[in-house]
Amino acid sequence: MVFKKGHPPYGFAKGGLKLSEEVKRKLSKARKGKHIGNENSFFGKHHSKESKIKMSLSKKGKSNPNISKVLKRLYSEGKLISHNKGKHLSEETKKRMSETKRKLFLEGKYKKHSGQFKKGQSPWNKGKQFSKESKRKLSETRKRLFVEGKLSPSRYWLGKKQSFSHIEKVRKTSIEHWKNPEFRAKTIKNTKDALNRLETRKKLSKSSKAMWQNPIIREKLLHRIIPFKDTSIEVKLQQELTKLGIKYEKHKFILGQPDIFIEPNICIFADGCYWHGCERCFDRNKFTEKQRVQIVRDQFVTQGLQNSGYIVLRFWEHEINNDIESVMKRILECYKKEAIIVVKEKIQ
Ligand SMILES: [Zn+2]
Repeated sequence: MVFKKGHPPYGFAKGGLKLSEEVKRKLSKARKGKHIGNENSFFGKHHSKESKIKMSLSKKGKSNPNISKVLKRLYSEGKLISHNKGKHLSEETKKRMSETKRKLFLEGKYKKHSGQFKKGQSPWNKGKQFSKESKRKLSETRKRLFVEGKLSPSRYWLGKKQSFSHIEKVRKTSIEHWKNPEFRAKTIKNTKDALNRLETRKKLSKSSKAMWQNPIIREKLLHRIIPFKDTSIEVKLQQELTKLGIKYEKHKFILGQPDIFIEPNICIFADGCYWHGCERCFDRNKFTEKQRVQIVRDQFVTQGLQNSGYIVLRFWEHEINNDIESVMKRILECYKKEAIIVVKEKIQ
């Protein structure tokens, strides 16, 4: 919308409109990023007569089939001059344009870019006389593109002349085939199967939707155990333990699936700073819903394990990456203490 000459902006006619600060702020917010005024690349420019007519026509009912008719009439009456009418393209430009068209056509893109071959629009090769040599070259290029998968079969065969006898042969064979009850049954079955598969897919997606809507099932799905790849920080801890000759288990099947478990009861978690909501690396006020849920879940797991007599050690990603020595020291302290307790128990 543009303020036209002679049209006062809204509010002006009513004796001036005073905008409250609130409204001004809202207006400015709405305009942000919309390239208004000299921000706009069209600022200070004018539409040509032709495009003005086109715009006006296109506004009057969207898909107006009369537009081209009206334009044609205007062109023929000399009231409208096409922007490129009378312009002479240099040989160089013509050559370049033709090359581009040829390339696009061979790649099967020409149609996509320019829409269908419309009436009055001539394909790049219309009226062109090809020498035998260039015809052979073209056919070879098409073949190559077809083999490389750049040309779809339908485009490859498009326009290829098939002898009448060949077409007749294909037609007859298909009729013969269809007479064969086995072939017919197979084809019908294949079609039915395909339709059934589609139906099943639809049904499945419906049932899965219903499943997710059920809070109990959703909870179960959310907590299902998914086998996962060890993260880099987990691998780092594993390597350090291996160096010390300490045996461990990965992702032991107990509450919370500790990343590392050391007999008899040490559970070690390597928490990624982002996903587990590290307040040292990230702003706690900007945590997402997912992070908040994870924090609560971690607390729940820690508490649950401790209540069952496990020792829980949680390390942040930044601790493992920046100070692996302190991390290992804490693990070792625990390990020795627990090992001594186990020995004592065995003696008693
Ligand atoms: Zn951190």
